[in-house]
This record gives sequence, C-alpha cells and structure tokens, in this order.
Amino acid sequence: MADSPDDRATDADLAGFRAEVRAFLAGYDAQPGTPDLSRLERSRAFLAARYDAGLGALDYPVTDGGRGLDRHFVDVYRMEAAGRTSDDGGSGFGIGLDMCLPTIRDHGSPDLRKRFLGPGLRGDEHWCQLYSEPGAGSDLAGLTTRAVRDGDEWVVTGQKVWTSGAEHADFGILLARTDWDVPKHAGVSMLVLPMRQPGVEVRPLHQMTGTAHFNEVFMDEARIPMDWVVGEPGDGWKMAVALLAHERSSIGKGGGRQPIPTDRLIDLARSNGRSGDPVVRQDLARLATGTRIIEWLNLRAGIHPSITKLWRTSQGRAAADVAAGLAYPGGIAWDGARMGVTEPGRFADPDGSHWAYGICDSRALSLGGGTDEVQKNTLGERVLGLPREPATDRGIPFSQVPKNA
Ligand SMILES: Cc1cc2nc3c(=O)[nH]c(=O)nc-3n(C[C@H](O)[C@H](O)[C@H](O)COP(=O)(O)OP(=O)(O)OC[C@H]3O[C@@H](n4cnc5c(N)ncnc54)[C@H](O)[C@@H]3O)c2cc1C
Repeated sequence: MADSPDDRATDADLAGFRAEVRAFLAGYDAQPGTPDLSRLERSRAFLAARYDAGLGALDYPVTDGGRGLDRHFVDVYRMEAAGRTSDDGGSGFGIGLDMCLPTIRDHGSPDLRKRFLGPGLRGDEHWCQLYSEPGAGSDLAGLTTRAVRDGDEWVVTGQKVWTSGAEHADFGILLARTDWDVPKHAGVSMLVLPMRQPGVEVRPLHQMTGTAHFNEVFMDEARIPMDWVVGEPGDGWKMAVALLAHERSSIGKGGGRQPIPTDRLIDLARSNGRSGDPVVRQDLARLATGTRIIEWLNLRAGIHPSITKLWRTSQGRAAADVAAGLAYPGGIAWDGARMGVTEPGRFADPDGSHWAYGICDSRALSLGGGTDEVQKNTLGERVLGLPREPATDRGIPFSQVPKNA
C-alpha cells in the first residue's frame, strides 16, 4: 500500500490505528451529552479530549507534539469520524485546525510553532482568517491594510471584511502590506494578530440566512510582537497561497459549510409522496453520485484542491435547488425567530425554517475560500498551463498602482 519510499504505512498499522480511533470515539460518545453548553464550547471539550488522547495532531511532527503520521492515517480518522452524531458541537474551530495551524506548522518559526500549535489544536485558542478587504477579495494581493515596524512591535491599521468567527477569535492570521515600494505580491507579510486588544474592533454582518457568522474587523494601531511573522517579512503571498491550499482542500473534503445532505432530501421526497417521480429520482440519483465522486476524488493523492472545492460547491448548489423544489413553499418562507437559532453553516432539523436556511446558505459555498470563477482561473493557469490573465499592475510598485479613493 506504500505510495513512495517515505510512505510506509502498512495495512496492519492502519488497522491498529482504526481500532484506536474507534475506541476513542465510542468512549467519547458514551459520555453523557452537554446540551447546556454552546456549540463552540462542546467543540472545545471534544477537541481537548481528542488532543489529550493523542488524536489531535496526527500529521504534525513529533517535535511539535504531534504523531508524525502520513495522510493514510488522517484519511482513516476522517472516515471513522464522518457522520458521527456525537456531542462534538460540529467543530467551529475549522479556520484554526484546517488552515492557520497547518500553515504555522509548515512555515512558522520554532517559537511560533511552540506558542500556537498545541493550544490551537486542543481548542484552547480560537482563530480567524483576516484576508479579505472591501477592495481586495478575488484580487487579494491588492490589500491595503498596513503593518509598520515600531520598536519591537508591528503597528497595524486597516479594515478586513467577511471575517468568519472573528467574534470568538483569540488570534487572526493576518495579511498586511509591509512594503509599498515593490509590486503588490512582493510587499505582503503574514502576521499573527492578537484579537483581544483595544486596537481591534469586530462588528457583525447579518446574512440573508438570519445569522451573523461573519464580521467586519477594524484595526486602528493594533499591536503585534515583532517575531509573530509566519515565514519572513515580504513572504506573505507565498504563505497566503499555502494557507488557501489548505482551505480549499479542507472545503473539498467536507470541512466548514455543509451542503444539504442527500439522505435528508430522499426523506423529504418520501414524506412528500414524490419519491416515485422520475424527475425527482433522477435529481436524487445525480446528487448521490456526486457525493460518492467527491469521496473518491479526495482519496486521490495530490489532487488539486480547487477541483474538490468546485465539485463540492456545485454539489451544494444542486442540493439546494432540489430542496427548493421539494420543500416548496417551506423552502422559501420561514419563521425569522427560528432561523436565528440555526447553527451557522450547518443544516439542522428539516422543518420549514431549516430547509430555507440550507437553501440560502448554499450560495456561500461558492464564495468562501475563493469564488468558483477564481478556482477555474487557478486550474486554467496552474494545471492546464493556459496564458495568465492580463494585468495592468504587474511589475509596478504598489504605491504607484491606481486605486479607488
Ligand atoms: C461564507 C463566507 C465566509 C467567508 N469567510 C472569510 C474569512 O473568514 N476570511 C476572509 O478573509 N474572507 C472570507 N470570505 C470572503 C471570501 O473569500 C470573498 O468573498 C471571496 O474571495 C470573493 O471576494 P469578494 O467578495 O470581494 O468578491 P469580488 O472579488 O469582488 O468578486 C465579485 C465577482 O467577480 C468575480 N471575479 C472577480 N475577479 C475575477 C477574475 N479575475 N476572473 C473571473 N471572475 C472574477 C468573482 O468570481 C465574483 O463573482 C468569506 C466569504 C463568504 C461568502
């Protein structure tokens, strides 16, 4: 089963590991539930138990407190954990676990790794991603939040937007411009911003789902210790791309926002007496096939993360369209008070409110982590080798690039 000389997991190793994972999950699930805790606190408790059981840092180096295991073990864990209904709150820590911490693991200094990996993986600290700005979304390298050195600190001023989970975050992985006299991609640095300080203000943004799961973040002379740079100053674009690859891969593998599950749609068709309708059956069969294809794509080593992300977002939209047809009129009308209690990004119980939630929320799949168009551009340029998009700012110092006022 080895893929390469460095990839030596045997079937016996994996079987032993599978038994270990099953024993942990079964033990955890057997404990009494904690319904009084918030979703985030339930996740935190689960992550702490998982980390303390030695299952929270599988593919992290032993020197960083991890197990040093390869992707086969991670896949085993994922498969065993999939579809569980245990009291783990549905995570809520994905930005740290799936994006920020792997980037710090791969590119952070020993001091940064020591400071952040353990507490983040254990759920003791919550993370957010400070990338997008009002004038820099798809054109992320056009960001204008600035970080300036002042003694042994960076001083940060600017605005971010669409920052998921910032209201809970202890730290944000921040892209800021540290050099304005070089072309746009070369002047960016990745820094770790302590969120709980006077210079950081978080304001919620209300979505059409009735929830407010992302925010505007205003930084006014916020402070960062000088050494809290991931990579070197000016390496930020390389770091940004590395983190985005983790983000897209995680979305493709089923992290974060959830499409409406096909089995719930099958139940809905049955309860509506529509399960014999050949058109409905065809739609459901297509969704079931799509779900299986994503699972198989994810088992392929080295698959480009934009491929799995695109598959998952188109699957999410297709599921929402089928739900809208089957749940009508419940799919387009809801009780506003009930919508507000739905867990962000998760499809919960299928009463009228929740179908509407799932339908509205499905549109976010195509935006978060980079839009579908941007994924297609990436695949065209990096995988198919098509010519790069024309750009008028290439090679020009960022300070001289025309900008909106
Ligand atoms: C649910 C959700 C969660 C998010 N969470 C976070 C977060 O935690 N942190 C964070 O930093 N950001 C977050 N985002 C922001 C997200 O990354 C951006 O919305 C996304 O990158 C698009 O940027 P934009 O909204 O500025 O749209 P724009 O870049 O203005 O794009 C507008 C439209 O133009 C198209 N377009 C733009 N450029 C091109 C091009 N070159 N070729 C073809 N089409 C193009 C886009 O595809 C899109 O359809 C989140 C967004 C959503 C929806």
